[in-house]
Order: sequence, then structure tokens, then C-alpha cells
Amino acid sequence: MGSLGFASINLPKFSSPVKKPIVVSTWDSGMPVNAEAWKILSNSGKSVDAVEAGAIYIENDINCCVGLGGFPDRDGIVTLDACIMDEKANCGAVAGLEQIKHPISVARKVMESTPHVILVGAGAQQFALENGFKLEEKKLSDDATKAYKEWLIKSKYQPEINIENKKQNGPFAPNFFDDGTANHDTMGLVAMDVNSDLSGAVTTSGMAYKIHGRVGDSPIIGAGLFVDNEIGAATSSGVGEEVIRICGTHLVVEFMRNGYSPEMACKKACERIVNRDRKKAATLQVGFLALNKKGEYGAYAIQKGFVFSVKSNDENQIHSSKFLI
Ligand code: ASP
Repeated sequence: MGSLGFASINLPKFSSPVKKPIVVSTWDSGMPVNAEAWKILSNSGKSVDAVEAGAIYIENDINCCVGLGGFPDRDGIVTLDACIMDEKANCGAVAGLEQIKHPISVARKVMESTPHVILVGAGAQQFALENGFKLEEKKLSDDATKAYKEWLIKSKYQPEINIENKKQNGPFAPNFFDDGTANHDTMGLVAMDVNSDLSGAVTTSGMAYKIHGRVGDSPIIGAGLFVDNEIGAATSSGVGEEVIRICGTHLVVEFMRNGYSPEMACKKACERIVNRDRKKAATLQVGFLALNKKGEYGAYAIQKGFVFSVKSNDENQIHSSKFLI
């Protein structure tokens, strides 16, 4: 028992020096995102500013599957989800946001200037416009237009996310470009700054050809992103419904609180999904990525193919995640 009479919380104890600053992000597209975040982190900036800057960077890339260049829903409309969380557990999110270029900054505005956590749809757009964000043209990128036209031929509603080890035109063809590269449509990044403060951000156009109005894990605090400044932070990519069902990133952080390394914590969260329904899990992909208070990182995925990007004083590279199936 602690001196106040409470049972003491079992916080992980760190012996070696903390690696900071550091930023880790989902997918190989995380490399330039990390570079952007690093400009802030390496100048002793705050992790919350760094993760927002990284997300803004990728939202600006109209050829990327994140932001307004992303894939539309089954009605041909791009709807964006984003969230942000800082070291004080302040958080903000938007879901189903249309025609606004930087959902991450709207999410930050929700966090900083409202008493709420999530705004959705038309209300989120109205809030964005009231706060000086510009209404963009309703237009699909060339890649998205092409893919959407192909998808329309069958209009098969199959909300399965790309499984990256299937580098062929198989049942997941709509999620692949002609060159066989996969559609990675979620950017999640978590960072620790020089003050050891953790923050995270997620931005996405969500699952391609989803039902209009569908919200995935990405803007849900505890599903697509969770930060606990005492323990660590985690983010996810993949079939959002599966992540929501297990409160995925909250679970990863809780596993780290119980002493698991980031990689093992991510593995155990993947196992939670797989053990519920092995057959179903074989048809889908979920990947978790985590960073602890010591600056240690790790990831795990259900299937082969999940990669993540790391930037610290020691490294700047892409890693392949281990996988269960
Ligand atoms: N998690 C996202 C969603 O379900 C999709 C993704 O990660 O690619 O909307």
C-alpha cells in the first residue's frame, strides 16, 4: 500500500536511458511524415505539435490515400476521420468530415476550443467553417476516380481491408493500384518529445467504399489512438470494426502498463481479435503500433505486410511488423 493508503500502481521501471525524442508512424508513407514531425521534435518542440504537423503533411498529399485524395465511400463521397490526443489526455476528433483539407487540425480545434471530444458529419463541417477552415471542391483524385469506377462495375460491398501479402488482383482488388501496391489509407503516429511527453494523431479517409456514414476506429479515442503519458501510446490500422470491438489501442496501453513491451502488447491485442474468431481473422488485417515512456517501440499485425516508420536520433527507417497468421 502507498502512503495514502491506496494500493500502489505497478508502473514499469526503466533502467536504461530514455530514447527521446522519437516518432513512429504507420506504413512506409510514415517516413516523410516522421521527417515533418522531426523538424519540431528536434527543436525541442512539443509532441502534440509534431504529430499534428506530420498528419498535415500527409493530408496535403493529394496522391495519397489519406485526406481528400483518399478513396470514397460507396456513394462516391470522400469522408474523413481524424483524432489527436496529448500528454494531458486532452483529445479531439472529427468523423465523416467532407471537403475540409485538414481534418487533423479541426480535431485539434475541437480538443482546444470546445468541451467535447468528437464532432461528426455536417456538424463537424459547420464547426470547421466557423473556425476559418476553407470548403474544398468536391472532387476525387485521379487514382480514386479510376478505382471507384472499377469498383462500381460490381459494386460489391465487401468491407475488407487490404491484406498486403496478397500482391495480386484477388478478392481485395479494389484496394490495390495497378502496380500491385496496397491502399494504406490510415496514417497514425505517436511521438515523445524531449520533455518525455507523449502525443498521437490519426488521419484517414477510412475504409474504401464503406457505407456513407460509417465511422471506423481511426477517430475513436481508445480504438485508433490512445495516449497515457505515464505509460505509452498506441495507434492502429486495418479493419476498424475489429479494433473498436476490443478498444484496441487502449488495450495495448493497458498491456504495456502491465509490463509488456510495446511489441508484446501489440501482439496480445492482435491475439484478442484472432482468438475470438480465427476464421474471420484470416480474412482481415489489423496492425498495432506502440511506443512506451522509455522510447521503446514495437508493432504486431494479424497478417504479413504491416510496416511502420521510425525516426529518432539513432535511426530513420522502415520496419516490418511481425504477424500472427
Ligand atoms: N482503420 C481504418 C478504418 O477502418 C482503415 C485503415 O486503417 O486503412 O477506417
